[in-house]
Amino acid sequence: MRKPPVLPYRAYVLLLCLVLLPVCDARAESDRATERMAMVREQIVSRGVKDPATLAAMRAIPRHRFVPGSQAASAYDDRPLPIGHGQTISQPFIVAYMTELIRPGPGRKILEIGTGSGYQAAILAATGAEVYSIEIITELATDAVARLRELGYGAVQTRAADGYHGWAEQAPFDAIIVTAASEFIPPPLIEQLKDGGVMVIPVGSPFFVQTLMLVQKRGNAVTSANLMPVRFVPFRRAE
Ligand code: SAH
Repeated sequence: MRKPPVLPYRAYVLLLCLVLLPVCDARAESDRATERMAMVREQIVSRGVKDPATLAAMRAIPRHRFVPGSQAASAYDDRPLPIGHGQTISQPFIVAYMTELIRPGPGRKILEIGTGSGYQAAILAATGAEVYSIEIITELATDAVARLRELGYGAVQTRAADGYHGWAEQAPFDAIIVTAASEFIPPPLIEQLKDGGVMVIPVGSPFFVQTLMLVQKRGNAVTSANLMPVRFVPFRRAE
């Protein structure tokens, strides 16, 4: 009687690889780590961002999970993207640049105004910082909460409200990051900064290019420095 043919060992390995290939491919696609590494190298490190915690967070957080499905293919492009309700997720470099300025990390308490997709909040949380984030559009706030929880950043505390008033019950903060352009710096936010605290905020008319400003508080003295021209969606006020 004839025995069934015995394939050489290498043929079995080859067959196994062929079977597993679509699985591995799907994994790579769902994580898109290669694109993220290129984004950090080509858009962020090349433009001078050095803070290791910021770079590690930008490499770790799956940006494509924070944009609508229709934008997912462009998630790692060098530009802002629409996230619905007329709002945008900032360009990756701007997120990294602002993150580096406020030096997030364990033991730092940070307030964000403008949760949007939750991406910036996740980046801050990935550094080990304690993050509070306020969003004025309820639907965006609700979606961001679900997304942050699903990705393991449920510790981020969020609130659907007008961020003009800050978060008095949790103040003071080591740093405040504002991701919508305001004509002036809301006084309650300055008040809620710790002595030695920093705030990064785009200031200027919503219809023109604005200036990204770094505000520092020391005792009763508040100083500010202009960093670079930027374009952000307008800081809105609750009616
Ligand atoms: N940081 C976000 C990008 C947000 S775009 C991200 O990583 O995706 C700016 C956001 O600020 C918008 O979602 C807008 O609704 C919100 N916003 C504008 N004015 C606000 C206010 N007064 N208080 C809280 N959020 C505000």
